[in-house]
Amino acid sequence: MASEAPLPPRFFSLHDDLYGTHDTQFSDVEPVNLGEAPLCPKCGGVIGMMTWLPPYRVELELYGSALGDFVKGPGYQVLISERMAEAVRAEGLTGLLGFDPIEVVRVRRKRKGLKPADVPRYFVVTPCFGRGAVDLSRSLLRRNRPLTCPECRNPGVDTIHGFTLEPGTWQGEDVFRPRGLPGRIVVSERFFEWVQRRGLTNMKLIPTEEYVFDPGHLGPPAATTETPWE
Ligand SMILES: [Zn+2]
Repeated sequence: MASEAPLPPRFFSLHDDLYGTHDTQFSDVEPVNLGEAPLCPKCGGVIGMMTWLPPYRVELELYGSALGDFVKGPGYQVLISERMAEAVRAEGLTGLLGFDPIEVVRVRRKRKGLKPADVPRYFVVTPCFGRGAVDLSRSLLRRNRPLTCPECRNPGVDTIHGFTLEPGTWQGEDVFRPRGLPGRIVVSERFFEWVQRRGLTNMKLIPTEEYVFDPGHLGPPAATTETPWE
């Protein structure tokens, strides 16, 4: 008889919905205060961009026809609309930190059309660094430096042709930056379903196994060529 083993958890790479109906980005507005960049607790290497500090003042750049619920900008912090922030709390989703209010200084319309009548309130949030780690044997990555640290798994990569997380490393966060690919925001299946159910906008969710990042068109590596630290 077939056993009813639970399916392994699925994960999705979170992106803004470029060219979508709610395509929105932000840029920070002077004065911009930046703090330290996050460091790996084991090797001391930089694992992220410098932390954006108050005052949080932004210009929204609207490329779609209406402002989105999820808005990316120049750094590791992202903006979410008030309705999304309330929905995160109502659902008890974990992994987003901060929720500091921001000031929208102006909305710049990048395509023809009227300015949106209402600009929602936005909050700045930081996706946490999760314990979930990229599975070196089942991910197709090209690295631009050798793999030396088992904790941060050396973030720099040239290409990604799908990735998975090492079984047992994920600690249940709904939104997080995985060890090994801190430049990517990964979300849980629960988060994925919640986005569809709530109709939240400007989020594109790609199964991590299907996510491709290959700006130089190098193609996938012939095989997993990782040489781990062991
Ligand atoms: Zn490290």
